[in-house]
Formats: sequence, C-alpha cells, structure tokens
Amino acid sequence: MKIISLASGSSGNSLLVQANGSAILVDAGISAKRIAERLEQAGSDPASIHAIVVSHGHSDHIKGVGVLSRKHKIPVWMNRGTYDAVKQYIGKIHELRFFQTGKVFEVSGFRIHPFSVPHDCVDPVGFRISRGSSRLGVATDLGSVTGLVTNLLQGVQVAVLESNHDPKMLIDGPYPWELKQRVKGRLGHLSNSQSAGLLQRIFSDELQAVLLAHVSETNNLPELALACARDALGEFVAQNGLLCCASQHQVGPEIEW
Ligand SMILES: [Zn+2]
Ligand SMILES: [Zn+2]
Repeated sequence: MKIISLASGSSGNSLLVQANGSAILVDAGISAKRIAERLEQAGSDPASIHAIVVSHGHSDHIKGVGVLSRKHKIPVWMNRGTYDAVKQYIGKIHELRFFQTGKVFEVSGFRIHPFSVPHDCVDPVGFRISRGSSRLGVATDLGSVTGLVTNLLQGVQVAVLESNHDPKMLIDGPYPWELKQRVKGRLGHLSNSQSAGLLQRIFSDELQAVLLAHVSETNNLPELALACARDALGEFVAQNGLLCCASQHQVGPEIEW
C-alpha cells in the first residue's frame, strides 16, 4: 500500500491511498481544482481515483467532494448521518454509496473499517484500511481517545494521526474563547500530548511509520508535534521508524509499505 497526503490541516484534508493500480481518496476537503493539481504532483490524476471515502461532514473534509465526483464520475462513500448533514453543500453526487459505522466494506480491493470517533458533528469516523497484509489507520479529527479508537489503530503498520495543537499556543493564541474551548474539548481535536499518548498505546513491533496530521497552523508547529511524538516513541524512532508531518500546503510525504 502507498499513501500520499494531498493536504492536511484546518483549511482542508485529503489523503491518497493506492495499491496494485487502485486508488481512493480519504476525504476531499480542498477544492476539486486543487485536488487535481495535487494529484498531478503526486504522480496521479482524478481519472484514476476509484472512490472518495468521507470521514465526516466538516467543510475541511468535504469541500471538493461534489465537484470532484460529478466532474470525474467518482463514487462517494459516507454514512447516512454525514450525507444528511452535507447534502445541501455538496450537491448531486455521481454515485452515492452508504457505509455503516462499525461495519467493514470493500472498495476497489481495499477493506475499510469505519469506526466512531469523538468529534462535534453527526456520526464522525476514522478508518482502518487493509489490503493483503498491509494495514493503515487514519484518525484525524477526534477530541479524545477512546478504547474503540485505540483498538482499531492497534496493529497497523502505518498510522495517520491527528496532532492538532499545542495547548499553550492554543490558549495564548488568537482564536475566540468559544473556539478555544471547542478545539480542546473532548469533541474537538487532539493536542500533541494526547496524540503522543495514543501513539504509545498503539505502538507495536509492526508499526513502521507515523504521519502526524491536521497540525494547526495557528496553534501548533510541526517541530512541537514531532518532538512530542518522538519523546513518546523513543524506541520506534531509535529503530528507524519513520515519523513525519503532513502539510496544509504541500503534497507528501509518500509512505509505501
Ligand atoms: Zn472535523
Ligand atoms: Zn478537520
């Protein structure tokens, strides 16, 4: 399997997942035009995307879904709660498919297990995606760590995990009080140390790479997120495990396993 982050952060998220000639996007939260540009930079193109799988209905995850689906005839998978919440924004979908949270479904050879995450919208999910012996975990918007989240991320070789904010930068930063409360609340986003704690819990001999995602440009710095994860995963880093950070503005990194 191979993943390439096309965009990650509060202004838009999209992750390209590829294996054996098939390709899907997890979320399409930047404009369709920009996704096409970034796919090209990643050596791909919209015509080769077999499905878009949507984690939840916040605009930074769905912004490009409608146009991308209509223009390039791409099927879209989401749960019914998400669809009801976003249908007025995304418009007609080329081919709408529903998954049920907690139930494994298959798309283009990928086995996808959507699992509930604590986040402030209707029925938000993370994904455990497997293909053959390759296993990927994606959890990018969650305010707290549950037993379910920990269980579903255990045993993956690659984890794409939110490391949203540094608590001090958030409190001292420019967000209005209500938004600060929302972000740090149990239905908001994971801080660097919460993310590091989760990484410790899902660490196993199988883990090969960790991609820190949804890193806030206002309330965090990649260096802080990476340092926190590095402290938590000392052994992993010492054994040359790959620890990196996804960007809002740039494609990459590419992780293949
Ligand atoms: Zn969200
Ligand atoms: Zn988000």
